[in-house]
Amino acid sequence: MTRIARFCALCGQPLSTLRHSGRLRPYCNACETPVYFDPKVAVVVFIQRGERVLLIQRAVDPGKDKWALPAGFVDYDEAPEAAAIRETFEETHLKVRIDKLLAVYPKRDEGLADIIIAYSATVIGGTAEAGDDAADLGWFNRENLPPLVFYPSITLTNEWREGTLIL
Ligand SMILES: [Zn+2]
Repeated sequence: MTRIARFCALCGQPLSTLRHSGRLRPYCNACETPVYFDPKVAVVVFIQRGERVLLIQRAVDPGKDKWALPAGFVDYDEAPEAAAIRETFEETHLKVRIDKLLAVYPKRDEGLADIIIAYSATVIGGTAEAGDDAADLGWFNRENLPPLVFYPSITLTNEWREGTLIL
């Protein structure tokens, strides 16, 4: 997705364009500051209990009505593990402990993040209830997985089904 900035976020002046650090970037002549568009970072959380995985049904687009692992954006000042715990709680009302870094994915589909960090986690408290951008949630075994959306959720769940995902 192309990003555009027309006005300086610091002083409000219209931006020009300048070649800086290897590419053309928006540039504020008043502040003498280039605009850097940073990647949006998200976390996704694989939670297994017994032989089942926790999935949420998306309440909103992209991927409305399809299922995915709990996930969400990392705030600019937030550790990714903390974001994983927070997002899981917002979407499922379950408290989790992060166990392991599973993978880091680039953007490969209509997901809104540019970089997706995947963790495995274990439920340590709370009562499962869908919230935030989750319309529903459920625990699914390898034989009854619902229609999934988003590359990281699909990849991790496929690996889990095939027995190659080490949690
Ligand atoms: Zn400025």
